[in-house]
Amino acid sequence: MHRTTPFSASGHSLARINLFDSVNDEIVTALLASCEVAHFDCGEAVEIPQGRQACVYIVLRGALGSTTLDDSGGPRQIRTEKILPGESIGELSVLDETATLGSLTALEDSDLLILESQTLWQLIDEAEGVARNLLRQLSFKLRTVNAQLRRREKVGEFYRQLSMVDSLTGLHNRAWLNDRLPVLIEEAHTGQKSLSLIMIDLDHFKKFNDNHGHQTGDKALRAAAGVITSALRPSDFAVRYGGEELIVILPESSLDAGKMVAQRLCERMREADVFNDASITLPHLTASFGVTTLLPGQNADALISGADAALYRAKNAGRNQIAF
Ligand code: GH3
Ligand code: MG
Ligand code: MG
Repeated sequence: MHRTTPFSASGHSLARINLFDSVNDEIVTALLASCEVAHFDCGEAVEIPQGRQACVYIVLRGALGSTTLDDSGGPRQIRTEKILPGESIGELSVLDETATLGSLTALEDSDLLILESQTLWQLIDEAEGVARNLLRQLSFKLRTVNAQLRRREKVGEFYRQLSMVDSLTGLHNRAWLNDRLPVLIEEAHTGQKSLSLIMIDLDHFKKFNDNHGHQTGDKALRAAAGVITSALRPSDFAVRYGGEELIVILPESSLDAGKMVAQRLCERMREADVFNDASITLPHLTASFGVTTLLPGQNADALISGADAALYRAKNAGRNQIAF
């Protein structure tokens, strides 16, 4: 249990308390006569009454650690803050009577001046300057919270982007496809524009792995991804759909345009010097390509099924070729 001393007998002065900056000392001293200074040992938790009983805690000595329940959009998150001598916390809980303070802990041996809500309201009413200081403090805190939120949004966006990239090839991944393909299809339908899709599957890749090892297989996959991305327009998209299956999306492209791109990719894959090393005599990679184009009313699943069926035909016809 913490010890308390009346403020008047605590030996602390008003001089460095932000809330009382440029405020008439006599009025404040009179209003604080009934207030207690509580002493907390390092690590001790401060009990925080909520609602109408909420208090403002002014640090006179030591330091407080606070956790605040953050209601600003989305699920409740927790913010942590360190409150130093002269600073205070809890104003918002007093002003709007909502419980936002999660916990308060003394980070060092600390003296806290505890203002009950009634005293804070009296100070606001009677001591000119307290309201102004309070506003200044709250707007500063608001700015800090906003900056934190913006940072959090940026970090969130960074991780979202990261989760949409395939780590082996650097291509977009399946999550990206699930997220973006329906949007691209919707745009094509509403703009009455064409869109073609190519499904690509490396030929005999199981044998390639068996013969040359899984790590060489990984290298080959990366090389195949490089061959494809270097042959596309900036407006096209390359996706790793699964193991050694890739998808290319060609917005604003007809079936004929899709066939042309697939043919070009097929040739480049066949001719590519995959390992950039003359001393390695590995067989060149080949792949099979299934091309399809978006039909009126078609959704993502139907479009992919169409490309898959075409790919199956290319495999059956002997691989290392395109089908549509
Ligand atoms: P097909 O010409 O009919 O496509 O024959 P395939 O052997 O390529 O087809 P299958 O689907 O039977 O095998 C795909 C192989 O791709 C099996 C798996 O070992 C390999 N593979 C899938 N993902 C990876 C990967 O990330 N790295 C490596 N090295 N191999 C992978
Ligand atoms: Mg496959
Ligand atoms: Mg394959």
